[in-house]
Amino acid sequence: MQRSTYYRACLLAVLWFACGWTAEAVNAQVGTTGRGEYPQITLEFPTDNDAVFNGQPEYFYMGLDRLIAGRREWSWEGGTYGYVRNARSTPAGYRFTRFHEGVDIAPVYRDGDGEPLDEVRSIDDGRVVYVNSSPNGSDYGRYIVVEHIWEGSTFYTLYAHLAETTVREGERVLRGDRIGILGYSGDGLDRARAHLHFEINLMLSEYFDVWRDERRPRWPTRHGRYHGYNLAGISPIDLITYNFRRPRASILAKLAEEEIEVTAYVPAGPPPQILERHPWLCRSCDAEAPPAFAWSWEVGFTRAGRPVSIEPSTIHIASIELGRVDPLVRADYLHSRILTRRGPGGTLNSSARLLLSVIFTRPDQVPNW
Ligand SMILES: [Zn+2]
Repeated sequence: MQRSTYYRACLLAVLWFACGWTAEAVNAQVGTTGRGEYPQITLEFPTDNDAVFNGQPEYFYMGLDRLIAGRREWSWEGGTYGYVRNARSTPAGYRFTRFHEGVDIAPVYRDGDGEPLDEVRSIDDGRVVYVNSSPNGSDYGRYIVVEHIWEGSTFYTLYAHLAETTVREGERVLRGDRIGILGYSGDGLDRARAHLHFEINLMLSEYFDVWRDERRPRWPTRHGRYHGYNLAGISPIDLITYNFRRPRASILAKLAEEEIEVTAYVPAGPPPQILERHPWLCRSCDAEAPPAFAWSWEVGFTRAGRPVSIEPSTIHIASIELGRVDPLVRADYLHSRILTRRGPGGTLNSSARLLLSVIFTRPDQVPNW
């Protein structure tokens, strides 16, 4: 057993006892999601680096230089998930305006020349759906996408900047299987800043190719629907930690409880295809399927532009409209992916319209919002 795996097992054991879970609970292999029972999910870290569990985030995240108030500062926070890059001075103080859709995990092993050696492993059972084995043609460099079915919903983990990929598309992998070696392929990286860029995603649309051909014909076609733009990242370390601390709790229930920060109304039509894969996004649909048609759809987003809810609505509208805006988001200056700060509540910006057009693309129709 590798050392870190041993520590993780010990920590898990301690947590179990500390929380007073019974042997019966430990043996249970199914969780209940409110939409039926599904096999219990156990997620692992994608490399041996688990320092974030030991209260040492500075060893877990690969930092970067951030320019703040004209001064360059090295910070591990720049490797975390969220609005952590590109500081801008605002009346409310410095705010980071660029969203980092995953986490940058630092290597723990290097050879004598400083080349990273860490194995990159699938965090759960799944199927390899995409391998970009060339270091060029993507900011991600060499990257792998693995598809997982969690509680009946499809999620995609993405492992980027690899030195080497060791699996093929279509291959089934088990949790902990090696899929590649950590590296620094992709734009603007060097050996010193080698890291694994890791994401856990929802796919916005299975018809992404149709959308891209029409709206962004110059984008590379080689990544197909596994283009980063079509994969909306959720906070990966939060999810793994949640799963570790509450192994029987539903991941979907956690995601469905997430706060909606901005909503937008989309004009009349059928439900978007994402609801077939993620029925839990429609909170008012309960266990039923969404209606085949609605006068409008209200899409709830995080401020980073990840859909959190999609509800049928009876409001009649002619074109896309801004719905509710969380007061904290309105007061802040961090909403570059959804809102532009203009007018009392802000306005939906072009990147929000573009995101919505991806989500509502059908094989026969690409919205021109
Ligand atoms: Zn990254």
